[in-house]
Amino acid sequence: MSDDAGLNWSRNIRYSAERIVAPTTVDELREVVAASASVKALGSRHSFTRIADTTGTLVSTAELDLPIQVDAAQRRVRVGGGVRYGELAQELDRQGWALANLASLPHISVAGAVSTGTHGSGVANRSLAAAVTGLELVTSTGDLVRLSETDETFYGAVVGLGALGIVTTVELAIEPTFEVAQTVYENVPVEAVRKAFDVIAASAYSVSLFATFHEDAYVDQVWRKERTDAAVTPIPAALRDREAGGARHPLPRVSAASCTVQGGKAGRWLDRLPHFRLEFTPSNGEELQSEFLLPIADAVAAFDAVRGLADRLKPVLQVCEVRTIAGDELWLSPSSGRDSVAFHFTWTADEAGVAEVLPELEAALAPFDARPHWGKVFTPRDPAGLYPRWADFVALQRELDPRGAFVNDYLRALGV
Ligand SMILES: Cc1cc2nc3c(=O)[nH]c(=O)nc-3n(C[C@H](O)[C@H](O)[C@H](O)COP(=O)(O)OP(=O)(O)OC[C@H]3O[C@@H](n4cnc5c(N)ncnc54)[C@H](O)[C@@H]3O)c2cc1C
Repeated sequence: MSDDAGLNWSRNIRYSAERIVAPTTVDELREVVAASASVKALGSRHSFTRIADTTGTLVSTAELDLPIQVDAAQRRVRVGGGVRYGELAQELDRQGWALANLASLPHISVAGAVSTGTHGSGVANRSLAAAVTGLELVTSTGDLVRLSETDETFYGAVVGLGALGIVTTVELAIEPTFEVAQTVYENVPVEAVRKAFDVIAASAYSVSLFATFHEDAYVDQVWRKERTDAAVTPIPAALRDREAGGARHPLPRVSAASCTVQGGKAGRWLDRLPHFRLEFTPSNGEELQSEFLLPIADAVAAFDAVRGLADRLKPVLQVCEVRTIAGDELWLSPSSGRDSVAFHFTWTADEAGVAEVLPELEAALAPFDARPHWGKVFTPRDPAGLYPRWADFVALQRELDPRGAFVNDYLRALGV
C-alpha cells in the first residue's frame, strides 16, 4: 500500500487495514465481505476519526458499476453509495433535478456522508441523510439487504456509522432544479447577532456564521444562500450595509478561488449550496475538525459558552462555523428528534493542542446535551444518554453483523 493510499484526507489517520479493494460488481463485493474477518467501507476519506478504520479489508464502493437512475414520477434518484455528491449533482442538474441541500463540500461520497449524519445549513433543511428513502447493503454474511421507509429498522440503518454493512446503492428524494444567490456579509456586531440569531438564521434558505473570535465584538462573516423561487426575506438589520466588497473564504487570509460564487449572483443550486468548489481542495487541508449539535433554542447560550472559551481555543482555532439543521427521525442522526444548531470548529492540524482544549469545549457544551459529529474529532462516551434509540441501534448491529466483522476500535469505544 503506497503512503498516501493508507491515509485519510486530512492525513491525521493512517488506516490499519491490510488491504484496500475496490470491487466493480456487487457480487464481487459480496465475496470480499463474506471472506473477510474484519471489513469496513471506505468513502472519500473525509472523516477525521477512525470511524472507517479496520485491521482487515477496506472496501471502496467508488468503482461499483451502478448507473445514476432518476425516477421522475417518484421524485427519487438511485445512486451507487461511492458516488460523490458533486458528480451526482451534475447529473441531476443535467436532467432538471436537484437535491434539497448539500454539505460545505461536494467532494464526499453519498454513503459516507449519510453514514455520519452529514448536514448543510437551513432552519427548514434536514440532514443529508434525511433525504434517503431507501438503501441496499451487503451484510457480513454476504447477503444483500434492502431497507426502505416502510421498515422500522430503516431509521436505524441510514446513519449507520459503517457498522451494519457496506451500502451499495442509496435512493434519495429529489426536486425540480432551482437557483440560489449567495451573499457574504462581514464584521457583523456580536451583540446584534446575539439579539437576532433566530431572525438571521431564518433569513435565507441556508445561513452560516463564521467566527474566529480574534475580534470579540464581531462575527467575521455571515453567508446567506437564498433560493430565487422563494418569497423574498428582508435582509436582517444586523447585516445591512455589511456586504463584503469581494469574494471571501471562510478562513482568514485564504484565497476565495476555491469558494462557490458569491456577490448575490443567482445560478445553479450545486454551484452555491456548498461553500467549496469540487475542482479545488475544500477548506484548507491543513486542519482537524470537530462539531457539536444541540437544540436550536440554546443557540445563543451555547454561543456565549464558546465565546467564554475563546482565549483557550484561539491557539488552535482557525474558524468556528454556526449552522442550523431541522430535526429528523433517524436514530443516530445528530439532529435526530430536535431542530438543531451546529457549532463546527476548524482547528489547526496540531493534534496535541486540540486534544488539550477539546475536553473543556465538550464540558462547556455538555449542559446543552451536545451531540458530536460522528466523523469529526471528539472524546468517545456512551451515546445512550444522547440518543434514545442507541440500545436499539446496538441490537440492530448485532442482528445484521452477528460475527462483528464491521466492529472496529471506534465503535468499541462507544460500546458497540
Ligand atoms: C473539508 C471538510 C468539510 C466538511 N464539511 C462538512 C459539512 O459541511 N457538514 C458535515 O456534516 N460534515 C462535513 N464534513 C465531514 C464529512 O462530511 C463526514 O466526515 C463524512 O462522513 C465524510 O464522508 P466520506 O465519504 O469521506 O466517508 P469516510 O470518511 O470515508 O467514511 C465515513 C463513514 O462512512 C462509512 N462508509 C463509507 N462508505 C460507506 C458505504 N458504502 N457503506 C457503508 N458505510 C460507508 C465508513 O465506513 C465510515 O464509517 C467535512 C469534512 C471535511 C474534510
